[in-house]
Formats: sequence, C-alpha cells, structure tokens
Amino acid sequence: MRLAHHWRVPVVPQGGNTGMSGGATPDGSGRQLVLSTRRLNRIRRIDTANDTAEVEAGVVLQALQEAAQVAQRLFPLSLAAEGSCTLGGNLATNAGGTAVLRYGNARDLTLGLEVVTPSGEVWSGMRGLRKDNTGYDLKQLYIGSEGTLGIITAAALKLFPLPKARRTALMALSGLVAAVALLEHARGELGAGLTAFEVISARCVPLLARHFPALRWPFAQTAPVTVLLELSDYENDAHARNVLDRVLEHALEAGLAVDGVVGESVAHSRALWALRESLSEAQALEGVHVKHDIALPTSAIPAFVAAAEDSVERFAPGARPAWFGHLGDGNLHFNVLAPMASDPDRFVARQSELNRLVHDQVAAFGGSISAEHGLGQLRRDENVRYKHPLELRMMQAVKEALDPLELLNPGKLLPARESQEALHIP
Ligand SMILES: Cc1cc2nc3c(=O)[nH]c(=O)nc-3n(C[C@H](O)[C@H](O)[C@H](O)COP(=O)(O)OP(=O)(O)OC[C@H]3O[C@@H](n4cnc5c(N)ncnc54)[C@H](O)[C@@H]3O)c2cc1C
Repeated sequence: MRLAHHWRVPVVPQGGNTGMSGGATPDGSGRQLVLSTRRLNRIRRIDTANDTAEVEAGVVLQALQEAAQVAQRLFPLSLAAEGSCTLGGNLATNAGGTAVLRYGNARDLTLGLEVVTPSGEVWSGMRGLRKDNTGYDLKQLYIGSEGTLGIITAAALKLFPLPKARRTALMALSGLVAAVALLEHARGELGAGLTAFEVISARCVPLLARHFPALRWPFAQTAPVTVLLELSDYENDAHARNVLDRVLEHALEAGLAVDGVVGESVAHSRALWALRESLSEAQALEGVHVKHDIALPTSAIPAFVAAAEDSVERFAPGARPAWFGHLGDGNLHFNVLAPMASDPDRFVARQSELNRLVHDQVAAFGGSISAEHGLGQLRRDENVRYKHPLELRMMQAVKEALDPLELLNPGKLLPARESQEALHIP
C-alpha cells in the first residue's frame, strides 16, 4: 500500500470475490491494482473466556465457523457463499445473512479491527472490548465501507455459546400478512431462540422443481408464501421440538398456516434449508432476471410487495417477481424474472427503468435500496437519488479525510470525484 501510495496507483481490495455489487471488480482503465487478501488466512486466537476470535481478513467464513465449533462456540454469521467469502469481505460489506434476526449483522459482531490506511500505515484497533467509550467508534467507519477507506487486515469478532439443539420448520402460509403475523407471534413465543425467519414466494417453487429436481418440496400444494423458521434452544432437543410444535399448532389454528413440517433430524433440517439456499442459483439457471436487495420496516412489507408487483406487471406484463429473503430482518430479494418466452435482451435493456420503479416504491415505504449487498458500482449512482444530500456530503467528507488521494477503490460506493458534478452531488 505504501508503494501504491508513492506511485499513486489506485487499489481494489478483494477477498472471496462473491460480492453482488461489483465492489471488488476494477474499472476498465487497466490502471487499478487488485489486492487479494486470501493469503492473510490465519485464525490468530480464540479466547473462550472473552468469547472472541481474532482472525485475519482472508479467512474464509466457513473456516471460522468450524474453528469456533471446535472450541464449543458459535460464530453466527451465515450466508450461502460462506464456503468462499472472506471475513474481510464480510466486514467491508457489512454482510447480513440468515441469523441477523438474533445476532445482528457483521457490524454487530465486530469488536475490533486492524486496518492498513491508504498511505500504508497500520491502525491496530484489535481491542476485544464490549465497552469502550473513548471517542469516535472508528471501526464502524470501515465496516460497510466496501474497501473505499482502508484495507481491513484482521478483526476481533464476538463468539456465542453453542445452542444445545436446533430445530427447523417449514410452513405454508396464506400470504405475507400471515407471515408478518406469524413472525410477531414466533418472536413472542421463542424470544432469542428465534434465529432465522426466511420467506419464499410461490413463484420460486417451480424454479426449484425445474433446476433442482432432487430437492423435495414437502407440500402437495404451493401456498402463496412459505416460511422457514429456525429455533436455537439452550435446554435440549425435546424442549426445542415442543416449543416449535406449539408455534406450528398456533399458526394452523389461527388460520395463518395451511400446512407445516418440522425437521425430524439434522439431515432433514439441512434438506429444508437447501430449499431456501438454492433459490439464488435456481434463478440464475432460469435465465435473465433483475435483482433488488431491499430493506423495509417489516410491517410495511405486505403493502410494498402488493404495490411493487402491481407496478411491475404494468411495466412488463408477464414479468415474474420471484422474491425471497430474510423477512425477520425486513430484507427481501425482490428479483424479477423476464416474462416467459420473451426476448431477454429487451428485458435487460429496460432494467434501469425497472430498478427506478421498484426503488421508488421502496423509498415511498421508507426503505433502503441496499439491505446487505452494498452499493459497489451497481447501486452507486442510484443511491444519489435516494440519500439525503447532507448524508452524501458527510460521506464524501469522511472519504476525503481518510483517503485524500482517492486511492482506495475509487468510484465504488460514492461516485469518483470527477463525476460528482454530473451526478448533481451538492
Ligand atoms: C450465493 C450467494 C449468496 C449470498 N448471500 C448473501 C447473504 O445472505 N447476505 C449477504 O450479506 N451477502 C450475501 N452474498 C454476497 C457476498 O457473499 C457478501 O457480500 C460477502 O460478504 C463478500 O465477501 P467476499 O470476501 O467475497 O468479498 P469480495 O466480493 O471480494 O469484496 C466485496 C467488497 O469488499 C471489499 N473488500 C474485500 N475484502 C476487503 C478487505 N480485507 N478490506 C477492505 N475491503 C475489502 C471489496 O473491495 C468489495 O468492495 C451472497 C453472495 C452469493 C454469491
């Protein structure tokens, strides 16, 4: 980094390269240096008394999950790319995943950071402290900064006790209003034991059947909405089974659910999770689609989906909004597949209009156009439309203070300085 600073070479940090917003991809100039962190792959220390792990940025997420398990601890960050994404990338994008409902996102899991600045100095903030009120919380600036402020080289992360038992249930529901009501009920009944509440829309189900025929959908009928719910229990398996059965019974009696199944074994639970985790790939195999990673207040989701589906249908009749996601966190992947038997190129050519339409609805319902995938280069310019000008100016001031030569990941997250006027950044 010191050399890059000396020669004024822009640097693009890259971890597992699984990011969804083009943040780790250099521009086309041929002048940017891609800096891979993959060889920073040591788990420096697991401190069970402090419930922390000190890891280097290139450690693959799954490797940390496994090391924590060996130490009888849980590192709860979990996402479908965990076999190849890195902790540095997870922190740089403030990754979310399937357990945010209980444990929070990467931001909530981080106690300390080690960072290399654009001029090549090392900031060692690897404090494994849960309390530290000695000024600005600088690590939070770097988390979610998508490599635009510094290179994260290591982190001190929180660990948790391993649950004694886990149970997964899949429930077929009458609609999104029922799903939100069930979430509210499950939160009350299961408290901190509710560790995942995922949603799958009806349009996703035939995609699984077409592209993953070995996966078995457990219900004879496809309900408008299916929910996958996970309980982590700190008593025992029988207790877990009991409380989950009670939630299922309530859902059926209250008319929220029309059917339901509880995983009978670890293998059965995994098979239920596989249905949820195969959706991204099933959509990719289905063909052209336009992705939206949005967050909304959970209570607003049913009305948002109704309004957005309606606008999409008017915009491109026959287009298929096949949404799924982390309903427990108010985060939907509102992906829209091209109409069947349509010209995919024509559909893609209109994707900016489609984004505008969906994101305007998100803004109208008080939401965010990027829940967990970041802005990168994909959502950078759109963000200018939805962020308050004062917020944009504050973000720009942070960038100028920490990276005055604009050497780190220029043109990601914020428009490069020379193009800001064109984008009307005040
Ligand atoms: C199938 C699939 C499922 C996914 N599911 C989820 C999900 O549920 N939740 C979720 O949040 N994301 C999800 N993602 C997106 C992606 O996995 C995450 O964004 C992940 O955190 C990126 O990690 P990475 O190591 O691959 O980072 P990269 O893609 O290499 O980089 C991502 C960004 O971080 C920057 N960066 C990387 N390493 C560093 C570093 N050490 N210091 C500073 N900046 C750095 C890069 O410059 C880039 O801007 C999914 C992706 C796939 C392919």
